[in-house]
Amino acid sequence: MSTTGLPPYDDTNIFARILRGEVPCKRVAESEHALAFEDINPQAPVHVLVIPKGHWCSFADFSAAASEAQQAGFWRLVGQVAHGAGLEESGYRILSNMGVQGGQEVPHFHVHLFGGRRLGRMVQ
Ligand code: IMP
Repeated sequence: MSTTGLPPYDDTNIFARILRGEVPCKRVAESEHALAFEDINPQAPVHVLVIPKGHWCSFADFSAAASEAQQAGFWRLVGQVAHGAGLEESGYRILSNMGVQGGQEVPHFHVHLFGGRRLGRMVQ
């Protein structure tokens, strides 16, 4: 499936390389279906990226093509990371940039999890 403005999936992207262990990451959690690690350029005291273990460029691809088990497993880990970071009392934000127009830079589907401070309005 094509994803707005993104080329077809290319497994040399940085997150594919992290998944293969070729590039180090600060791992937060991992499951059969997903990996969570700290963003290299954090925008909040907690800024974790969660990526699925598969070849999906974006949320559009993932939601359309991943199996139910893969999707459930992915979102389960997002929730577990938020819980594990103790963010449920204070609140948090999950976000996925989709496509070039949506601000996506790395063409492997990922969710940002932000927390640890009061978050402002952010759509620009
Ligand atoms: P996007 O704009 O939604 O694609 O966000 C990509 C995110 O990946 C940015 O927040 C980057 O800081 C982050 N990032 C890029 N390279 C690395 C890395 O090697 N490790 C961890 N985070 C990364």
